[in-house]
Amino acid sequence: MEPAMYKGSCCDIISWFEDISENASCVQMQTLRRILQLNFAVEYLKKWIGEVNFEDMEDSALESLYTSLVPLASHADFEPYVQRIADGEKAPLITQEPISTLSLSSGTTDGRQKYVPFTCHSSKTTLQLFKLAAAYRSRIYPIKEGGRILEFIYSSKQFKTKGGITVGTATTHYYASEEFKIKQRQTKSYICSPEEVISSGDYKQTTYCHLLLGLYLYDQVEFIASTFAFSIIQSFVSFEEFWEEICNDIRDGTLSSKITIPSVRKAVLDIISVPNPCLAKRVQSKCVELEEKDWLGLIPKLWPNAKYVYSIMTGSMQPYLTKLRHYAGDLPLVSADYGSTESWIGVNVDPCCPPEKVSFAVVPTFSYFEFIPLNRSENEVIGNSAIDDFVEDDPVPLSQVKIGQQYEIVLTTFTGLYRYRLGDVVEVVGFHRNTPKLNFICRRKLILTVNIDKNTENDLQLVVEKGSQILRKSRAELVDFTSHAEVGKNPGHYIIYWEIKGEVEERVLEECCREMDASFVDHGYVVSRRTNSIGPLELCIVEKGTFKKIMENFIANGAALSQFKTPRCTTNQVLLTILNFWTIKRFRSTAYGP
Ligand code: AMP
Repeated sequence: MEPAMYKGSCCDIISWFEDISENASCVQMQTLRRILQLNFAVEYLKKWIGEVNFEDMEDSALESLYTSLVPLASHADFEPYVQRIADGEKAPLITQEPISTLSLSSGTTDGRQKYVPFTCHSSKTTLQLFKLAAAYRSRIYPIKEGGRILEFIYSSKQFKTKGGITVGTATTHYYASEEFKIKQRQTKSYICSPEEVISSGDYKQTTYCHLLLGLYLYDQVEFIASTFAFSIIQSFVSFEEFWEEICNDIRDGTLSSKITIPSVRKAVLDIISVPNPCLAKRVQSKCVELEEKDWLGLIPKLWPNAKYVYSIMTGSMQPYLTKLRHYAGDLPLVSADYGSTESWIGVNVDPCCPPEKVSFAVVPTFSYFEFIPLNRSENEVIGNSAIDDFVEDDPVPLSQVKIGQQYEIVLTTFTGLYRYRLGDVVEVVGFHRNTPKLNFICRRKLILTVNIDKNTENDLQLVVEKGSQILRKSRAELVDFTSHAEVGKNPGHYIIYWEIKGEVEERVLEECCREMDASFVDHGYVVSRRTNSIGPLELCIVEKGTFKKIMENFIANGAALSQFKTPRCTTNQVLLTILNFWTIKRFRSTAYGP
């Protein structure tokens, strides 16, 4: 079947991407030239490249000059500039055009929210990426023109710095932008909820309204989406609790007293105020059936016209896949694209690829990308700085990356970041024409380390997956997890916090704990455990709802639910206090002896 969706523009954007992928290396050099043409006179660049005139320089000469003069940098190097922008300084510090908006990165991967410059280029590339991804999806999963998306999206509060700069998460700026509306018009797919719902600032009220409106418009819903998969899970977990109230609202054309924000009440009631007892009865009977089956296949049952579920499901979202599959039944899960507050990076050109295997084709016009080759340190003991487990080579341009090699991504953006280390580790798994396809591996920062041991988020995820397989055999489910390296005591040890659903015998949890301890394969960890310079792994089971409290803590501090990622390791005292307060059982591993 031919996709009904915006056929002409679909082909246009795909052929545009095929073209720039074919010439990815040239396009990258042009991208760098364009960034430098726009911003060569800014304070940050002048410090490194002075008054060099690169106008007549060949592309490759410009590329080598740029990478030899401008050093690799981290967020800390840009912080003083970004602070001056936040304070209201209008001089060209990192971009020629003054920056009037700053984005707040989620801070849930790094533990600390960061200010990142946001310009009209950011919204434009977001629009371009979403259109491109939609075009690739519609080739495989055609959707109806004019249909709806049940999209669980949330804006955070925007505020002004003392210098008058608007601050909010990147997703918040995007939802408030014209590009968000243009995307809906051009892809001919419209979200179910009005703007007032997305920007209510109260995630519980927003979730309720998204679900209510999604059900009200159920027969028009073509797919279910969110930025990160976590929001879909948290929405349906809430739905299990309050579905009856939603049915009442549909039946009577009323709105629950849960919804207290006047503008949200008005906007939602404008849509649903005609009572619809027939629909309420339909939803009610399906929910009764679903409840008996522990909500297996909830999505296709309630939204029979939905073609797929679309969201970021890789990286720290991978642990939610089991639950997402449970809700999605046999609907395909389409893994959404790869980017960061700093820049979009890659698009999923194979929408039918399962999330565990998905890769992202780099879009060479979005930023100028470099790749730092990362190799595992051969000498485990020499590399005992415990900062990192990788030996770095010199950064290479996109044209020189190799299949099978892992890299850290470096960005030079249109928004004023120059040779900025993103901190993500990716692996090149192939090419789309001549642009690399990347697998997201993990954040580079080690998360668990006591002495010579080195474990990344990915290592922890693999270990937790092994432990939770045992849990699943006893028909229980891991809701969420995090960890902490307890170094205050001697010997130090790892603590893994689990929230579980279902009843589990203590001996099963003891086995999970032992299995996880034995599954850390890092040589430093194994040696340290054998010599007891790292103590037995501790598994703490927390009370139901603890991870919701953690999420609420982040949101209360300005994070947006749309960008929320449960931190997989924490040293944050507030979080540790919550986790320890709600711990109801503790187990110590016997994997390396009693
Ligand atoms: P933020 O700082 O909130 O903008 O989050 C950006 C980070 O989220 C990236 O640097 C990645 O670590 C992670 N991320 C974004 N997209 C993906 C994806 N498709 N798969 C895995 N991780 C992702």
